[in-house]
Amino acid sequence: MSTPTVIVVGGGLAGITAALDCARAGADVTLLEARGRLGGAAYSFRRGGMTVDNGQHVFLRCCSAYRGLLEELGATDLVTLQPRLEVPVLAPRGRTGWLRRSGLPAPLHLAGSVLRYPYLGWRERAALVWAMQRLRQVNVDDPAADAVSFGSWLRRQRQSRRAVEAIWELIVRPTVNLTVDEASLAQAAQVFQVGLLSDAAAGDIGWAVRPLGQIHDERGRAALQRAGVDVHLRSTARAIVRQVVADGSDAGRLGFRVEASDGFSATADAVVLALAPAQAAQLLPAQPGLAPDWAARIGSSPIINLHVVYDRRVLPHPFAASVDSPVQWVFDRTAGAGVTHGQYLAVSLSAADDELHATAEELRSRYLPALADLLPAAAEAEVEDFFVTREHAATFRAAPGARTWRLGPYAEPLGLVLAGAWTDTGWPATMEGAVRSGHAAAEAAMAVATSVSRTRAPLEV
Ligand SMILES: Cc1cc2nc3c(=O)[nH]c(=O)nc-3n(C[C@H](O)[C@H](O)[C@H](O)COP(=O)(O)OP(=O)(O)OC[C@H]3O[C@@H](n4cnc5c(N)ncnc54)[C@H](O)[C@@H]3O)c2cc1C
Repeated sequence: MSTPTVIVVGGGLAGITAALDCARAGADVTLLEARGRLGGAAYSFRRGGMTVDNGQHVFLRCCSAYRGLLEELGATDLVTLQPRLEVPVLAPRGRTGWLRRSGLPAPLHLAGSVLRYPYLGWRERAALVWAMQRLRQVNVDDPAADAVSFGSWLRRQRQSRRAVEAIWELIVRPTVNLTVDEASLAQAAQVFQVGLLSDAAAGDIGWAVRPLGQIHDERGRAALQRAGVDVHLRSTARAIVRQVVADGSDAGRLGFRVEASDGFSATADAVVLALAPAQAAQLLPAQPGLAPDWAARIGSSPIINLHVVYDRRVLPHPFAASVDSPVQWVFDRTAGAGVTHGQYLAVSLSAADDELHATAEELRSRYLPALADLLPAAAEAEVEDFFVTREHAATFRAAPGARTWRLGPYAEPLGLVLAGAWTDTGWPATMEGAVRSGHAAAEAAMAVATSVSRTRAPLEV
């Protein structure tokens, strides 16, 4: 049997993973990426002397697939992982509460922290413990749980508006990139069950200590090269057709022809589309039972990052969350970005629909005072640089009913294979979801490629 051939379209984390897996399984793999770099939605760019991430990315200890990819890329030295979950939660006038885990098994590991959490009254803390218990029982694969909003479920569990603001929103917004009212119950429950309520260590937080581009692009390209994957950058796939592929025998075999913007044209036994929904929809033929506007029905949600360089150190933690402030989460990116003077903070605003069209000046006048409220030292400091990065379609929307449109890994009837954080992994739009989807797609692609390789077909078909 000849060597199976696979073309992976898209060089984000899903595509990198799928390509590495297929190469390891013995296929000849080509990867096409539209941009001049790998890493997709998790990348860096240069600004003056700094290397800026497009948006702060964190992962959790339970993100086993993403952590596995870091190992495969030889990039574990470029990230750090807390030994134990510990999140300072800042409030105006310099107040700090903590969310920490103890050494107790889940779910008791959070009990001490919840009992001491200063932003809730004792009734709210008791109701919180009750709701967490209820959340453990939600069946995340039940379509009924995906049909309702998490916010409506929280209200049924008697969660006060204060509890929603001071705890639930703090976790759901950055993980699902939607507000609690916008997120589906099933998706939010998956986050809490996997990240916080099943295994005590699962929610320990990790982040990149060097630029994302160094991890996903530089180390990604090197790993793909080692694996023998042929990587084409600035190559946008434009058309994919099912056709009989000549293989030197009288009969050909059924495969695909892929054509791209840079003149690339080749055939393969299997094709993985590792793209965002709107991009995949352009290349997927219509399918019976699939609404033509399926990608629009999934939709997308924006993330904005505000980048602030102070002339001195103002945040005494590697990162912090906040309550009673428009600042959601703030990260110290000084060393990671190569800034040698003062402190560079990235304020990460998830589900940022309200801020998306605000000017940089408007955001500056809203957020610098908010940061000064949270961080007394910031009130005294000079701001040396302030700029904004906006990702309009940062992630898909895991809203009620979205699971119906999370496809893959097979896309019938053509036999294409789908990957991407939005596909049907059960995970929210995360690096972990993307890598998981890449593994599932590679398995499907190898099944298609090896069965196709055995299928002989007349060349005239
Ligand atoms: C600002 C921001 C902050 C985030 N924060 C976090 C976080 O803290 N933690 C976390 O886990 N996740 C976070 N995410 C989400 C995470 O980055 C994504 O879920 C993940 O990177 C998606 O990977 P992917 O491979 O599925 O898709 P993508 O990264 O979108 O990759 C698709 C690739 O396909 C390419 N492409 C498109 N069309 C074509 C074509 N026709 N031909 C060839 N190539 C094509 C694109 O250029 C792109 O490189 C964040 C995302 C953003 C934007």
